[in-house]
Amino acid sequence: MRLNFPGPAGPAGRRGALWLLLLALVVALLGLLVWLAGRYESSLVQSRLEDNATLAVTDIRSGLNRNLQAVQALHVRERSALAWRVPAAQLLREHREILRLEWRDENLNMLGLVETPYRTPVFEQLDRASLQADVVLSCNAARRMSSATYSSSYFLPQTDGLGLEVADMCLPLTQAGRLAGYAVVTYSLQSLLSDLVSKTLSHGIGLSLTEADGTRLALYGAPARASRTFVARQLLDLTGTTFVLRMESRLGTPALFPNILTALVTAMSLALMAVLFLLGRDMRRRLQVEHDLGEALAFRKAMEDSLLTGLRARDLQGRITYVNPAFCKMVGVEAQELLNQSMPSAYWPPELAGVYQRRQEMRLAGKQLPREGHESVFMRKDGTRFPVLIMEAPLINAVGKHTGWMSAILDVSEQRRTEELSRASQDRLQASARLAMVGEMASLLSHELNQPLAAISSYATGSLNLLRDESAGSGAPDAPGLSGDLQLAMRRIAEQAERAGKVIRSVHDFVRRSDRVREAVEPHALLEAIMPLVILQARKLGVRISLEVDAACPPVLCDRTMVEQVLLNLARNGMQAMQGGDDPEPAAASLAQPEKVLALRIRPALPGAHGAWVEFAVIDQGEGISAEVARQLFTPFFTTRKEGMGLGLSLCRTVIEQHGGCLGYENGQPQGTIFSFTLPVAVAPAAGEPVNSALAES
Ligand code: ADP
Repeated sequence: MRLNFPGPAGPAGRRGALWLLLLALVVALLGLLVWLAGRYESSLVQSRLEDNATLAVTDIRSGLNRNLQAVQALHVRERSALAWRVPAAQLLREHREILRLEWRDENLNMLGLVETPYRTPVFEQLDRASLQADVVLSCNAARRMSSATYSSSYFLPQTDGLGLEVADMCLPLTQAGRLAGYAVVTYSLQSLLSDLVSKTLSHGIGLSLTEADGTRLALYGAPARASRTFVARQLLDLTGTTFVLRMESRLGTPALFPNILTALVTAMSLALMAVLFLLGRDMRRRLQVEHDLGEALAFRKAMEDSLLTGLRARDLQGRITYVNPAFCKMVGVEAQELLNQSMPSAYWPPELAGVYQRRQEMRLAGKQLPREGHESVFMRKDGTRFPVLIMEAPLINAVGKHTGWMSAILDVSEQRRTEELSRASQDRLQASARLAMVGEMASLLSHELNQPLAAISSYATGSLNLLRDESAGSGAPDAPGLSGDLQLAMRRIAEQAERAGKVIRSVHDFVRRSDRVREAVEPHALLEAIMPLVILQARKLGVRISLEVDAACPPVLCDRTMVEQVLLNLARNGMQAMQGGDDPEPAAASLAQPEKVLALRIRPALPGAHGAWVEFAVIDQGEGISAEVARQLFTPFFTTRKEGMGLGLSLCRTVIEQHGGCLGYENGQPQGTIFSFTLPVAVAPAAGEPVNSALAES
């Protein structure tokens, strides 16, 4: 299980590019939407304009038709030219678009003529006769088709400097089926636009009449200045001529929101952008949280990986869901081989699988396991077994549900080995203690036996002298007989007593002799050698060890093993004294009490008559030594402990005295005891001289 966290470049850059792309796409989409909405709106305006143009053309056409009928009505009754003028003038008053109405006979000679009252006569500038050709043309066409015909438009300059674009309509007049003349109506093209097109259509827009090629003939109204112009064209098809009606509408300043649709689309776009922004911010926060989470996870992982304790998690079915590297290393099996495996596990020794299985079943049945853990034996992949201490606790998830079991597993092989070593060393110490004791007793015995033997020897010698004196008095020295036999027996007694003395002396010499080689040892090296054993026991008894070693201490001359045993013995006594008896409570039980400290101190001793010394002290805070105990403290076999041998202190004293030092004790302050002993400093040997000859053996 490895976690990879993206670096700052690579994926982050790609993510940024993706965001940019998304943003660009959204902006393009929104732009397109707004543009389409605008276009839709334009097309609406355009089609409305087209409709209006059609309506305008219809207006003009129906206006023209109405006029045609009115002109026809004028000529229904036969009238004199004079009588004709009155209704004709009336007609022109009612229709501003008609500039002039002429009544001509069948040869186009003028019979009557009415001009519009609204402006100066239009033909003032230009003689009507010069335009006769147009009239003839359209009237001929009208006669041929027997219907009103329009001429093409022409320009009439006016006195005001401007001009008028006009067109004539020629209507053939018949009487009793015979052509009786013509009515010629001159229309102002501009008035057609202004008067015939309904005001609702022409309001606010530009209307113009153009020729088919686009030449503008008349203009009415002008749209406001604007950037966009909509144009609709519609044919005004009249008999004889054709105009194009051009309708021009302008949109006002392009409004930001021309209509509801665009406004809606824009609003939605803005909302979308806002959502995108919020989403982006949310994403950024998520990324930050993800990053923090990743870091926390990596930290946890690093922590788990660096642990020496094996960790193992199991689900409620007993399947392994997690193991840390320390556990894999401990059992020598890869994590993949362990994960999701149920019982029996790969690291269970086959002979114990049954027991473990039952224990598992108990656990799965919900039985509580002791919190302080239990000992077990696991098997490595190579088949070797090793002891472990397992501490298990229920695994509770975030919502408080029990999901499995978490175990911390300690490989205690090293601890067991140290304990074994300690036991062996204890046994060795006791064996050597026993041996030393035997030696002590032999030495004592030899000392005690020496005197009776000496007495026997001197009594035998005395008796022999007496016997010699007596036989010399009788004049027969070395005479055979009783006296001779007695003398011989006495000599033998004396010889045997001397022999026994020699044997005893040799035993004494043997016991007193030290085979061990003394060497120069750094004082702290002595402490270091016993520390593992001391710490082991201290941990068991809940005692803290404090070391005070003076760095200036020179090496001491000693039998290393023996002195180590002395230190170990004193340290043990001290710790046991603090425990207050034979049955030390477990460390946990004494938690409530003040901390107990056993101090081991080494410092140079005050120089004495026999050179320099180093003092070793073991300082405890125990119950101290009562006067009664003090009396027999160094007596062999004296002990106050049920399990004690009572040999420790007497042996220690012997060992130290053999080194020339002395071992003693004093009461500690405010309580406890200080046991201390001295050892001689190893004098730097002169060239060629062995170290241990530096100090005379005592
Ligand atoms: P053992 O340890 O087998 O009892 P020792 O000769 O080492 O034999 O000790 C003899 C007795 O001296 C102990 O039983 C104990 O009562 C007493 N004693 C030794 N060391 C201390 C100490 N540091 N504080 C108090 N009493 C002690």
